[in-house]
Amino acid sequence: MAKRLWIAFAILFLCAGAASAQDAKTVLQTAQKAMGDVGSIQYSATGHLNSFGQAWVPGADWPVTNLTSYTKTIDYGAKAAKEDLIHSEPNPMVKGGGRPFAGDDRQQNLVSGPYAWDMPGSAPIPQLGAAAERQLQIWLTPHGFLKAAMESNATAKKEAAGTVISFAYGKYKIEGTVDAQNLVTKTDTWLPNPVLGDMLVETTFSGYKVFDGVKFPTTIVQKQGGSTTLELNVSSVNANPGLNMSVPEAVIAATAPAIKVESQKLGDGIWFVAGGSHNSMVVEFPTYITVIEAPLGEARSLAVIAEAKRLVPNKPIKYLINTHSHFDHSGGVRTYVAEGATIITQEMNAAFYQKAWAAPRTLAPDNLSKNPRKAEFLPVKEKYVLTEGDRTLEIFHEAGSMHNGGMLLVYFPKDKIFEEADDYTPDLPQLAAPSGIRPPVFMANLMKEIQLLKLNPVTVAPMHGIVVPFSELQKAAASGKG
Ligand SMILES: [Zn+2]
Repeated sequence: MAKRLWIAFAILFLCAGAASAQDAKTVLQTAQKAMGDVGSIQYSATGHLNSFGQAWVPGADWPVTNLTSYTKTIDYGAKAAKEDLIHSEPNPMVKGGGRPFAGDDRQQNLVSGPYAWDMPGSAPIPQLGAAAERQLQIWLTPHGFLKAAMESNATAKKEAAGTVISFAYGKYKIEGTVDAQNLVTKTDTWLPNPVLGDMLVETTFSGYKVFDGVKFPTTIVQKQGGSTTLELNVSSVNANPGLNMSVPEAVIAATAPAIKVESQKLGDGIWFVAGGSHNSMVVEFPTYITVIEAPLGEARSLAVIAEAKRLVPNKPIKYLINTHSHFDHSGGVRTYVAEGATIITQEMNAAFYQKAWAAPRTLAPDNLSKNPRKAEFLPVKEKYVLTEGDRTLEIFHEAGSMHNGGMLLVYFPKDKIFEEADDYTPDLPQLAAPSGIRPPVFMANLMKEIQLLKLNPVTVAPMHGIVVPFSELQKAAASGKG
């Protein structure tokens, strides 16, 4: 009897699956008819753009900027899109990282098939890692979603908000909701993120209006990792404008540059490890190694770990000091957990990392997800002194930081080396794209902290840019240009 019941259930499930695919087709066709079918679309808006992964403290909103101009053009058939925007810092300035901080920042982000590039000026800058997400963004728009779902083996499921249509897009999964008015009200996907794992990207559409013969939402809000990244108040839409765009030769020819690691000895057993957009430091203790900063992601961490082991053979990496929780500075921390290191971070970050690191990582598994182990933290409240033998590091929580509420600074009292992240970025003057202008308030706070803590630095080791004498920071802080 129980067996027969089980078979009956199995048959019921199979039938439900078949009906669900049929339902999906009907729902999609009805929605496409109601919304209007287009080969290409262009929409213009104003709103807000947020700096993803740059919250002032873990769990706070991504810092917001004002989007004064935004136009996106998508050619669905060509799988190509162009996003043209201008954004600027709100007044007063919001706390956190990212953003342009000063003046209007113009961005032009493009994708065509497997190629992605930016056009900040007249020369294209290839964005090798960005094509997958930019392609996904095409299929997360209302009309794009319907097209991609129709070309896939989509399934349907009834929910309170409408019919939820799901399908696989390569290794990604896309879901969308079609409401009782046959309008796409929401699309979801999941992207891999070094900090958050398989991260939900949810986009909602509301206030549909007829523009140029097609229905299009007047409000679009996208959230990534639970907080808003883009909010658009759409003012105009062109149906079928086309998108005349060819991929620049330089973009087609571009290949991923090898990860570079360049060490600079700053003192006995102290190295500054540069070679990319973000720096680290390697410090030798009598029985172990401490690394300061694990930026970007696992690939960078593996390269820095290899360099640390080359510089200091036969000692384990016991500690990793994480300056702050911004994703570009914390994306490589998990690799050190997998390596067996204890993570030194400001106390507000430990619970955040534990929660974030518990998320599934099916899209981009890393060493820690493949060989799970418990993360060990050494949380710092205001000050912690790491010492063994004649090696001493002083770790301070930077009070009053506008950049990050849990920022740690490191001082080497014997060598008078001062490590800081993101408050001050000295760069080579000949660099085409300096690492970023830092607001005067960041440098002013740093100088205030140095005085308050009675530090006497001679050398500044920044986590972006180059090592400079402390006098350079004093000059930059005095002039307000850093
Ligand atoms: Zn930062």
